[in-house]
Amino acid sequence: MIVGVIGGGQLARMLALAGQPLGIRCLFLDPAPDACARTVGELLCGDYGDERLLDELASRAAVVTYEFENVPEASLRYLASRVSVHPRPRALALARDRWHEKRLFADLSIPTPSFAAIDTRADLEQALAVVGRPAVLKTRTMGYDGKGQRVIREARDADDAFSALCGTPLILEGFVAFEREVSLIAVRNTAGTIHFYPLTENIHRNGILVQSLARPGDPMTPCAEAHVQSILMHLDYVGVLAVEFFQKGDTLLANEMAPRVHNSGHWTIEGAETSQFENHLRAVLDLPLGATRTVAPSGMVNFVGHLPEASAVLAVPGAHLHVYGKAPRPGRKLGHATARAPKERDVLEALRRLRALADAGPPN
Ligand code: AMP
Repeated sequence: MIVGVIGGGQLARMLALAGQPLGIRCLFLDPAPDACARTVGELLCGDYGDERLLDELASRAAVVTYEFENVPEASLRYLASRVSVHPRPRALALARDRWHEKRLFADLSIPTPSFAAIDTRADLEQALAVVGRPAVLKTRTMGYDGKGQRVIREARDADDAFSALCGTPLILEGFVAFEREVSLIAVRNTAGTIHFYPLTENIHRNGILVQSLARPGDPMTPCAEAHVQSILMHLDYVGVLAVEFFQKGDTLLANEMAPRVHNSGHWTIEGAETSQFENHLRAVLDLPLGATRTVAPSGMVNFVGHLPEASAVLAVPGAHLHVYGKAPRPGRKLGHATARAPKERDVLEALRRLRALADAGPPN
């Protein structure tokens, strides 16, 4: 059975690795000849809009999925007229644009930071008067890992922020002084069965995820599950969906959603009965879903910009190393380690040691 994957990065690579024991092969489409998934599946190397390659993907794959949000809409439409595409193109169209995404949350009565669409400098002035300061100006599309955003703290920051980002549609969001960031990863199959992974607590630095910790039994779980369930149902969603929230008091404010496997779910590879990658493949192929419960307390640390020595990572009790095979570059995710141990305090100690190794390289 072949699953087509648009994108050949680390998420595609981990999907393929999860598929191998099940006899599922992944066929990737990526313009980069050195795309890191190429060592675990076949790479169709070329432009995302190349109709010859899209035809090949559609004819050979039972279903096509994607590992990132910025897939050209025309390519997805072209594919969807020839083969099943999951998650559905509509979910991607909403998730790729921060304004549409927040409108969706608001329509479903899911709290969000206050927000306004910005096209002109005058729009920004008006929106600042309503949203207040501090606020965050973001590009509506193509932003990831904290790229394409500027915090406006003082009135005088507005000019710089606008000139840095203008030329593309923008969104202004109220800056949330959150107590913590959490994400909820869910999976839904074509029959409508939904499984939720435990709520995950996340730490970001400069907009990039550095650490995740699974929090089974977290008191905010029912609230997060209700929000995510309403999105899944509304979109008749198939596959893994991740939603990131800011927690302030007893409220979860939805920041963004990712219609794909997600970095904050990497701990599920060793920490859950079925990983997010395997469950995504099961969902899009209409196979029974696997249990999402943790097998033990678990977490994850990202290696960004540099990879610590394998011997140092593996010397941390409970650590499992995942290397993506990408050339090092500042700010680039090169690998991660999951930590799993019988007691949560041992996971926390492992995460502390793994963070120290991650931080020991050159600054990003
Ligand atoms: P994003 O690309 O929107 O996920 O933003 C990356 C990170 O920037 C988030 O995980 C937060 O740590 C921070 N951030 C983004 N938007 C806001 C906001 N409205 N208020 C406070 N922090 C934010």
